[in-house]
Amino acid sequence: MEFRLIERIRELTAQAREDVRLGIGDDAAVLAPPPGKELVVAIDTLVEGVHFPPGTAPADIGWKALAVNLSDLAAMGASPAWALLALTLPNADAAFVEGFAEGFVKLAQPQRLALVGGDTTRGPLTISVAVHGFVPPGQALTRAGARAGDAVLVTGTLGDAAAGLHALQHPPRDDDGRAGLRGFLIERLNRPTPRLATGTALRGQATACIDVSDGLLADLGHICTASGVGAEIEAAWLPRSSALLELHDDTTALHFALSGGDDYELCFTVPAARVAELQAGLARLGCGATKIGRIVEGEGVRVRAADGSWLAVDRPGWEHFA
Ligand code: ADP
Ligand code: MG
Repeated sequence: MEFRLIERIRELTAQAREDVRLGIGDDAAVLAPPPGKELVVAIDTLVEGVHFPPGTAPADIGWKALAVNLSDLAAMGASPAWALLALTLPNADAAFVEGFAEGFVKLAQPQRLALVGGDTTRGPLTISVAVHGFVPPGQALTRAGARAGDAVLVTGTLGDAAAGLHALQHPPRDDDGRAGLRGFLIERLNRPTPRLATGTALRGQATACIDVSDGLLADLGHICTASGVGAEIEAAWLPRSSALLELHDDTTALHFALSGGDDYELCFTVPAARVAELQAGLARLGCGATKIGRIVEGEGVRVRAADGSWLAVDRPGWEHFA
């Protein structure tokens, strides 16, 4: 049974790449990394009931399992090439595999990403994807280079995924005419867009970069810790979608934008003098970035409200084992 599932995965995800000397089917894959590049690798696991609600469509799970990993490569400024997939399924569910592969391939194909191997086991629904990408030597973006005076920017909008999860957990009793807005937010939760083009464009530009998976405060906090600096965020500058603002009052929308996880936008720092030019370049790539604050000496992330007062921020973001 496993063999048939693996064979089906191989058929559904077929992607020709010159540098894949041996893909799915042997004991291990044989890959030819491009000369003169550095290899960037990451792995992330999604567990049903923890990282996605039970009942999530298999195609959404396939998309998201790859997206969260590609987002890590984007945050490093790397271009993706190969993936491994460890699939743990409660039973040999062919329909799940078909749907999963459809979502996975929809994201993989435009990137020419090849699935080169994996593992298939029985157990509670759990998906691990490992991705491999490349950067020119020494050009990977890290969390560690932010300096006092840098501007802090973020791509896209924040808080949508958290609001999408809220929408799933609190379905309206009657048709209130706002299903389209909720649908947009749920799509943002289930089908995050890894900002790969932005990530590669930030090579040599950003002083630090991270993807927002656990919430802005938590993830910008990681940049601050790694860089030995603090950050000041202006609440009024946080980019928020019209769907988020139409469905929630300002306090809730702000809470989602600061602490909600799963947006997979990039948060990065740039010397202040370079912001305008960089923003224009990123906008031409199709995903704009908004300035949300600045890096300061010290430590920790502080948020200033529109009236100039500092906000008391309790829960920085989603933490496992908290
Ligand atoms: P082995 O026992 O040698 O590890 P497996 O039966 O686990 O072999 O896997 C056989 C082949 O199928 C290997 O090339 C492996 O990488 C690939 N494979 C197994 N499961 C998956 C999966 N879920 N996705 C992609 N490739 C897989
Ligand atoms: Mg194996």
